[in-house]
Amino acid sequence: SNRTETLEFQAETRQLLQLMVHSIYSNKDIFLRELISNASDALDKLRLESLVDKDLQVDTSDLHIEVEVDRDSRTLTVRDNGIGMSRDDVVQLIGTIAKSGTAELLRRMRESKDAAASQDLIGQFGVGFYSTFMVADRVTLLTRRAGESGATRWESTGEGTYSIETVDEAPQGTSVTLHLKPEDSDDQLFDYTAEWKIREIVKRYSDFIAWPIRMTVERTGEDGATTRDVQTLNSMKALWARPRDEVGADEYHEFYKHVSHDWTDPLDVIHMKGEGTFEYEALLFIPAHAPLDLFMRDGKRGVQLYVKRVFIMDDCEALMPNYLRFVKGVVDAHDLSLNISREILQQDRQIQVVRRRLVKKVLSAIRDMMTNHPDRYRTFWAEFGRAVKEGLLDDFDNRDTLLEILSVGSTHHPDEQTTLKQYVERMKEGQAGIYYMTGESRSMIENSPHMEAFRAKGYEVLILTDPVDEVWVERVPEFDGKPLQSIAKGQVDLDTEEEKKGAEAEREQQQKDFAALLTWLTGKLAADVKEVRLSSRLTTSPACIVGDAQDITPTLERMYRAMGQ
Ligand code: ADP
Ligand code: MG
Repeated sequence: SNRTETLEFQAETRQLLQLMVHSIYSNKDIFLRELISNASDALDKLRLESLVDKDLQVDTSDLHIEVEVDRDSRTLTVRDNGIGMSRDDVVQLIGTIAKSGTAELLRRMRESKDAAASQDLIGQFGVGFYSTFMVADRVTLLTRRAGESGATRWESTGEGTYSIETVDEAPQGTSVTLHLKPEDSDDQLFDYTAEWKIREIVKRYSDFIAWPIRMTVERTGEDGATTRDVQTLNSMKALWARPRDEVGADEYHEFYKHVSHDWTDPLDVIHMKGEGTFEYEALLFIPAHAPLDLFMRDGKRGVQLYVKRVFIMDDCEALMPNYLRFVKGVVDAHDLSLNISREILQQDRQIQVVRRRLVKKVLSAIRDMMTNHPDRYRTFWAEFGRAVKEGLLDDFDNRDTLLEILSVGSTHHPDEQTTLKQYVERMKEGQAGIYYMTGESRSMIENSPHMEAFRAKGYEVLILTDPVDEVWVERVPEFDGKPLQSIAKGQVDLDTEEEKKGAEAEREQQQKDFAALLTWLTGKLAADVKEVRLSSRLTTSPACIVGDAQDITPTLERMYRAMGQ
């Protein structure tokens, strides 16, 4: 019963395909990297499954990837003998885009009128399998899941629909055949049936892939006879295991693109090795863009875990705290069991030690970036600052470093941010603390009556507008010995000793003069405020509302209300 069905792509998939078919991305070569990357993942998964499940009847003695071209029929096939897919897998994985952030991506693409910006967006998203439609007008996929007997054939022209059929026989694993677009046939640049072209792309993008990528090459000898020779195109060296000074920046960048599914170069590379009782190698990357799902509940997080070159899991949250969830890369730990579960990892003492070291290293890399590459740091902070600030809520070990790498808005400059250290250096003589105000926007804070006395004194005030700012300022009492003080809460004492003496007599007199008015106002406003008092903090506004030092701020109040509390 070989039922063939024609199914429709999910709406979001169709929209992304449209973008691919009309090739908004100029570098078409990367389709091969995406196919090889998927094949490599499939081989990783099969090896792991065969190690963990002893009953799985599969031959893992020659796991590899094969690239085959046919110049006459203008097809290119990438084949692997990895895990394969069941019929349901194919519908789920190839027919829909399960990535979180897809809707957000499409919304931003619709909004952006500029082609380069769209290209940039899709590059950050990584379209994987669908990139094949940049070079092919028809794609056929034949696959059989390891351990299953039936196979599945899938085909699509990349328009609205695809066909799917159950077939009796196919080798275990997956083969993807691209029917290359005729319009590219005269262009050397896009000749994906040429041996040199395949070699060049594999070398550039996939050299570090841990499995052999093979191609059969034909040579015609002097006697006119044709010989066929199977060659391995990649060097297969695990990048993280190689000495740092032997790895080029390009190699790091391509590896980053493989693990992150991002198409843009990272901001920074961290390559480290731990020796002693618990050996490990780590190759971490700080991306140049925040992923679209950075603030989504189901967003990806963490790095990949390997055990002695064997891939174990993606998104290993035990190795990275949540606030550094944007860090990508690989950790290869030598002394773990291949069967290790996420739950056990969370409690493993050695993993906790590794995690502490990784965090320290990442934070010090950010600090170095701040000193040595201020432009890069600014990009970093604009993309990830909001996530990093979450670390101030619970990472007490690294609080000081986090406060050092933090940048926030300030009255000192209309659009440049300041570090706390720079603020402290600018503090005036007699200034008691680091003043800040939280709120929804910069203009709202600048126009607040609370600001008047500080402006009159020439005191700088930090302008904190992220929702998370409300929370961390509550938990961080001081920086560099200077208390952090909200200008909108409690009594802020701005006067010097001499000013106080003079002011005191005057204040007493005013207190007497206005006593009746204050009592009357307090009575009138009893339902809304606790007390009406004379203020020394205003210079031009007649009145302002002040919170108690213990009160929650209006923004927090809104946040809690939105969360239903
Ligand atoms: P990603 O690799 O980012 O998940 P892709 O679009 O490249 O996205 O692939 C989608 C999914 O299809 C993969 O996650 C994988 O589950 C499945 N897949 C793709 N190619 C293969 C393959 N060669 N073997 C097994 N599964 C595959
Ligand atoms: Mg992929």
